[in-house]
Amino acid sequence: MLDPSLDFQIEQLGSCHFTSPMRGVQFADENERLLYHSSPEDLRPYIAAGLEPPSMERAGPRQQIFFDRHQLSCGIVSCGGLCPGINNVIRAVVMSLYHHYGVRRILGFRYGFKGLVKRHDVPPVILSPDAVNHISELGGTILASSRGPQDAVEMVDYLQELGVGILFTIGGDGTLKGAATIAAEVKRRGLPLSVIAIPKTIDNDICFVNKTFGFETAVAAAQNAINAAHSEATGAFNGIGLVKLMGRDSGFIAAQATLVNGQVNFCLTPEEPFNPHELMQKLEERLTRRGHAVIVVAEGAGQELMTVTGKRDSSGNLQLGDIGEWLRDTIKSHFTEIKTEITLKYIDPSYIIRSQPANAHDSAFCLLLGHNAVHAGMSGRTNMVLGSWNNQFTHIPIALATRQRKRIDPKGWFWSSVLASTGQQGDIAEL
Ligand code: ATP
Ligand code: MG
Repeated sequence: MLDPSLDFQIEQLGSCHFTSPMRGVQFADENERLLYHSSPEDLRPYIAAGLEPPSMERAGPRQQIFFDRHQLSCGIVSCGGLCPGINNVIRAVVMSLYHHYGVRRILGFRYGFKGLVKRHDVPPVILSPDAVNHISELGGTILASSRGPQDAVEMVDYLQELGVGILFTIGGDGTLKGAATIAAEVKRRGLPLSVIAIPKTIDNDICFVNKTFGFETAVAAAQNAINAAHSEATGAFNGIGLVKLMGRDSGFIAAQATLVNGQVNFCLTPEEPFNPHELMQKLEERLTRRGHAVIVVAEGAGQELMTVTGKRDSSGNLQLGDIGEWLRDTIKSHFTEIKTEITLKYIDPSYIIRSQPANAHDSAFCLLLGHNAVHAGMSGRTNMVLGSWNNQFTHIPIALATRQRKRIDPKGWFWSSVLASTGQQGDIAEL
């Protein structure tokens, strides 16, 4: 289907008059693009209409750059919740600015967007290779973070006062929207200030981005919890192990962790509403047949089953009902009602997972994201997100990336594979 709204055009501050000081690297061709669609069926309508199919700009170092590296100051800010790999990204951005481009003034804004507002009195720290050399061994973010909105006018006032030329924002959906308001204010003032976002969402729910950093580490770290749930379940009469994982709107972590583990019998995600009566019935059948069960539930699943308070956090995110506790209580009541003894163990490892240092896979991914973010900023691109698509790094306009959330397609091959691994839809009919 043709989608005329798919505009991957990236904003540019101006012409590139400086030659990159990088040596011995493969520079990206300015015209190099990656197709958004990869199947012939999706491409056909564009070809039939004589239109160019939608494509994304490829990331990478450019031969000609916009900023005079000798005069340039840069800033980095991290916002929202923790996610494995934030420190790796900070380190990679600092190292690339310093070693690839010779930028010497790099400011680390503290406590998220709050640190970008002067009257909050949290002055930025100076980041150097020495200051960041070992930070990727640590979980969390050395710059600390915050939630809650800040005024774009005040933030740009302070950036202007400090002479920042490129601002790197590391954060999720809210941070991207905040970064877009900064970019809009910068544009209104006609400043040569680039805003480059590096998407941080452990839930992997950003559109036009195949995978975000921290996801692989989260899935790997979730294995401890699922294995513990399985041991607890098999170690008791009618044992049930229940694990709640991250995933407010998209159940990618729960689903991928289920595929990786292979011990999960029921995987519940926000994308696929479930009927609690059916679930109890299947759980009864499973206990009768096998004597134990493992359930993995994403935090945003089954919200329609609970009384939602409508309360929001300081960033405006709706507070979710606790599906883990709800399921625990519902399962216990159900089996008490039918006078069947069970032993249920509930595990919520979310904060342990979020604060992990990045694993090997994510560390390399974060390094490349950080380097490519610097290349994008140095080339004068702005109001954009560093994405990854079909194993390549790309540039995506922030407006497109925040258009909607990426979710599991309940009719797609991925979810079908998860169901095939849990067997939660029932075994094959007896022959
Ligand atoms: P997480 O995935 O952990 O929620 P996030 O980046 O979405 O990460 P938030 O706390 O939701 O984290 O938002 C980060 C920052 O962006 C906060 O300071 C928040 O107030 C700000 N923000 C959120 N939405 C907007 C918006 N629409 N416009 C401007 N700023 C926003
Ligand atoms: Mg958010």
